[in-house]
Amino acid sequence: MGINKDSIILTGDRPTGPLHLGHFVGSLQKRVELQNQCKQYIMIADMQALTDYFKEPAKVVQNVTEVVKDYLAVGIDPEKSTIFIQSQIPELTELTALFMNLVTTARLERNPTIKAEIQLRQFDDSIPAGFLCYPVSQAADITLFNATHVPAGEDQAPMIEQTNELVRRFNYTYNTDCLNEVELLLSNTPRLIGIDGNAKASKSLGNAIFLGDSPETVHDKIFSMYTDPNHIRVNDPGSIEGNVVFAYLDAFHPDKAQVAEWKEHYQKGGLGDMYLKQQLCDVLQNLLTPIRERRKTISDEEALDIAIAGAQAIKPIAQNTLDKVKRAVGICYHSS
Ligand code: ATP
Ligand code: MG
Repeated sequence: MGINKDSIILTGDRPTGPLHLGHFVGSLQKRVELQNQCKQYIMIADMQALTDYFKEPAKVVQNVTEVVKDYLAVGIDPEKSTIFIQSQIPELTELTALFMNLVTTARLERNPTIKAEIQLRQFDDSIPAGFLCYPVSQAADITLFNATHVPAGEDQAPMIEQTNELVRRFNYTYNTDCLNEVELLLSNTPRLIGIDGNAKASKSLGNAIFLGDSPETVHDKIFSMYTDPNHIRVNDPGSIEGNVVFAYLDAFHPDKAQVAEWKEHYQKGGLGDMYLKQQLCDVLQNLLTPIRERRKTISDEEALDIAIAGAQAIKPIAQNTLDKVKRAVGICYHSS
């Protein structure tokens, strides 16, 4: 099912830090494109962030503003896309509670993204129930706004699968068709690797280039990138497998033919890592400079006001869906 003017996009990020290049190629770029084609809601998932940052609520709150600024800086237009804060739509929590009855804890424990994240956070045997259940709240985020498509990175595939399972289960259990299934929209770079060679650039792993990083930081991160440890002399043949510089050139260099030529040359030998890192640095500085400059022109107050206005604008949609959901379940009471 392709995108048309009736499609509805729901997407968003956790405000646990500023956004990075993984977000940019994984979903931000796509959102900038989609906002001209159909309705788009972009949610800042502060409630979801609290499921693992519950001891640091101030950090979450502070990052809400940072994330809005990142959105505006990359070209999300609040006239076209609605940016809102999750906690300002309590209907989401009500729908989450109703969904919670339709999934087993065993099913949640099998979710591969959750499994990996639990391991990363070293929760061991003390997994907060909120964390284990965040895919359920994500299913509520998506369905409450009747989304048809979710632009996100590859790590979100298990979440979409779980959302669709819940939608089918809900419709079947309550004999309704009031909720609809959703499709994941993957970008050309559904998973950008970390600057340290890790499988994913991520805030929690601290291995990403942030959109707001200074030119010096961007330069230093690029020049510290992992290449091929056996490529010692320029004339040695080099490997492009797992080579971070090539992964980033693939994701960001506009001239694909040029990158293909460098790959061939590098594998034969005679092309230096420093030369390639400088080429990548030029491309990324060109991309990030206007984003950084635009970011500086946005005040914290302006950013927050945009997100608050967004929640007010979409509240009626949330109320309308929740109303339908409650009627389907049969929990609606009227005094006589
Ligand atoms: P955290 O470490 O706090 O989980 P994160 O860096 O993984 O942060 P999220 O806020 O979890 O970022 O992800 C938000 C969106 O960005 C999701 O759609 C996710 O798929 C996408 N995304 C995050 N990192 C990458 C990446 N390295 N490549 C592609 N997409 C990414
Ligand atoms: Mg994540």
